[in-house]
Amino acid sequence: MALRSVEDTLHYLLACAQKRGTEVRGLAQSLGAVLAEDIFAQSNVPPADNSAMDGYALRESDLRAGEPMLVSQRIPAGVVGQSLEPGTAARIFTGAFIPDGADTVIAQEDCEQGDGVVIVNIAPERGQHIRPCGQDIAAGQLLLTAGHRLTSADLGLLASLGVSQVSVSASIKVALMSTGDELREPGEVLAPGQIYNSNRPMLASMIRSLGCDVIDLGIVADDPDATRLALVNARDSADLVISSGGVSVGEEDHVKAQVEALGELQLWKLAIKPGKPLAYGRLGDVPFFGLPGNPVSGFVTFCLLVRPYILAMLGVSEKSPPKWPASANFDWPKAGSRQEYLRARVTPGATGLQVDIHPQQSSGALTSVSWCNALAVIPVGATLRSGDLLEVIFLRDLN
Ligand code: AMP
Ligand code: MG
Repeated sequence: MALRSVEDTLHYLLACAQKRGTEVRGLAQSLGAVLAEDIFAQSNVPPADNSAMDGYALRESDLRAGEPMLVSQRIPAGVVGQSLEPGTAARIFTGAFIPDGADTVIAQEDCEQGDGVVIVNIAPERGQHIRPCGQDIAAGQLLLTAGHRLTSADLGLLASLGVSQVSVSASIKVALMSTGDELREPGEVLAPGQIYNSNRPMLASMIRSLGCDVIDLGIVADDPDATRLALVNARDSADLVISSGGVSVGEEDHVKAQVEALGELQLWKLAIKPGKPLAYGRLGDVPFFGLPGNPVSGFVTFCLLVRPYILAMLGVSEKSPPKWPASANFDWPKAGSRQEYLRARVTPGATGLQVDIHPQQSSGALTSVSWCNALAVIPVGATLRSGDLLEVIFLRDLN
């Protein structure tokens, strides 16, 4: 039977993902959080016309070339000036509100400043150096929409409106376990036959970067009872369970059977390389992903399938990263039966983006992931000659 395609799997998963509830958070806790409601501006930003320069505010029609003008008041930022007396100028500083009666600001560099007077040395344009009320944001404007993940700039934008808290998707608790008798943690001494657990910090940080909380269940032995216990634990404490390893069909692979015993497996094996044995199912009401043990497979399947699923749970509108056209700097002569995601480095070239691939594309070689800045997509059955166009997904779009 043909394996399920990546696109079909993603479609299925997104339909399964259940959206979470909402919570109110302070701005400082909201980086990366997903807006649960549209945000409309309650006021204008800036709230009034203000000076873009240190200089003098005046009425442009009062100016007489070369004639001194009386400086009738001084308006630093934060101070509200008086109505400008006709024929006079106000000393003004950047950010100070323009006094009634003034319509133009002259930069101090364009003036001669005397004792209580100023001489303007230029012929200004009326309205110059004034940032008008609402220039950045107009009251009533739709600013950010529900489903948007808040960036640092958004936090600044919201603060500029005086917004101190936002309604966002409630954070998701994700239980993470690494299966494998051979695994030890970094810092421990390896005995013969053992390797370090590289999936744990990699996957935990990828989960956290989506704004989720990690319940780290550490290493789970390749044993049916230990696997079942860990899965029960995970199910009872988390909103989503992710394991790595143990989802193939070897005698030491227990995850699949234990998930089936505790709940149901809805997907297993798909036409993706690396990452074919990915599993998805449910432990009661709690969704479960079984990622392959090979670290590159875990990385790729997380990026392409688990990440969009988590984003769907969070109500994010843009769940899949954009694919960019780029030109291959390599040949790919052999067509494959699974969609392949090559670890690639994309650089700008004279004629557009250029793609080089890492020479070691083994699913165990994390150097290729650390080296790459993109995944190059090779569709099922495709071959490529150097210079052909292909699609790439930038890792920066997978944060
Ligand atoms: P498995 O899916 O359990 O058969 O594991 C496939 C390969 O990935 C084996 O070579 C494992 O040793 C390796 N592996 C599994 N889990 C991890 C992990 N957490 N860190 C590093 N390598 C792993
Ligand atoms: Mg294993």
